[in-house]
Amino acid sequence: MFRDREELLIWIAEGFADPRASVICTDCSKIFKTMEEIYIPEDLRGIYCEKCYQLERIDEITKLKQSIEELKNTPAFGKDCYLYVIYAGDGIHKIGISHDPISRMNQIQIGNHRKLRLTLSIVFGSREAARTVEKQLHDALSEYRASGEWFNISPQILGAIIFECLEE
Ligand SMILES: [Zn+2]
Repeated sequence: MFRDREELLIWIAEGFADPRASVICTDCSKIFKTMEEIYIPEDLRGIYCEKCYQLERIDEITKLKQSIEELKNTPAFGKDCYLYVIYAGDGIHKIGISHDPISRMNQIQIGNHRKLRLTLSIVFGSREAARTVEKQLHDALSEYRASGEWFNISPQILGAIIFECLEE
């Protein structure tokens, strides 16, 4: 590894000057004839031809996206939000999102003569992410809608539809 770009450039120049050596692409081993053919990434981890440099960059962007996704999935990121299913028995389910599904259920329990149960809660890194899946799910369940966020559907069919939505 090189301490700085200047050190790397000197090393490359020496490579060009030395008749026993050849300056090659770190990935594909293409032999460079001039400095203009060489692409150097910020972290100086190698020297690349244009083609390999572009591929490396795509790789970098993919890795960056992945790490953002991983970060979003950690509980500490932003305000967690849950997609929840509350079951009231007899196929009656409420599907919604909340930062605190248990408190939400306790609120709904007040004035509800049925004993409610929280049967599913799935954590999302943001309210927006939970909202997106909730919307998909509500659309997929439209034929089972009783009113608002309440649906009349067997738990088995509901489970299957939820996992279908999550896989998308
Ligand atoms: Zn190359």
